[in-house]
Amino acid sequence: MHVQSIPMWTGKGNNYAYLVTDEPTKESVIIDPANPPEVAPELDAQIKAGKIKLSAIVNTHHHWDHAGGNDEMLKHFGKLPVIGGKNCQSVTQTPAHGETFKIGERISVKALHTPCHTQDSICYYMQDGDEKVVFTGDTLFIAGCGRFFEGNAQEMHKALNETLASLPDDTKVYPGHEYTKSNVKFCLAVSQSEPIKKLEAYANQHQQTQGKFTIGDEKLHNVFMRVNDPEIQKKTGKTDPVEVMAALREMKNAM
Ligand SMILES: [Zn+2]
Repeated sequence: MHVQSIPMWTGKGNNYAYLVTDEPTKESVIIDPANPPEVAPELDAQIKAGKIKLSAIVNTHHHWDHAGGNDEMLKHFGKLPVIGGKNCQSVTQTPAHGETFKIGERISVKALHTPCHTQDSICYYMQDGDEKVVFTGDTLFIAGCGRFFEGNAQEMHKALNETLASLPDDTKVYPGHEYTKSNVKFCLAVSQSEPIKKLEAYANQHQQTQGKFTIGDEKLHNVFMRVNDPEIQKKTGKTDPVEVMAALREMKNAM
């Protein structure tokens, strides 16, 4: 499996589209190509060079800065399946929670419904041999999580600490935005743990952090995945995991 990040709106939204390619067949999907002027030329060049065969658009959720480029992409690349949540622009297929499909020969994809940021949020867990990755949209960021626009703390707790936490620890995380620097500031305000300090050092030296950290790392440095940590419970004044989640989100919103 080859994953190419395509940054969009750098310095503003700091979004990522991702091109995922099955190496033997070159079959590829483009995840969240929300700004076609920044994505289509890259894909055109690779199609022309015979490096990829574009087989689908995949969306993590319906927000315009993730799914808002679908119609323009379809106009440019012709008819393609659009795999995503039910409210995504021109969606043609919404996989059920736990449903699997393939990209080419080797990549198996499992859809994980993670409603909260939006009710149609889907994370995509992909495996090719020993390689494991997950595209988390605006549900899980490196050291953070999305705002609860259409859901509540109970749902985000389930999404992060049950659904995503049950993936293998060595699964690499590819989020929908580069927010690590500001996320780590918040984590440090809550906890001065070694993993958080280590992440701060990394974020200070690297502009891009997608694919560099795993679900196992998130369980150590992401305070939203540490709702059972006594230090974080103390800081929030709560012990119930859902109440800790709600308190953390409110603290982050107020920061
Ligand atoms: Zn969003």
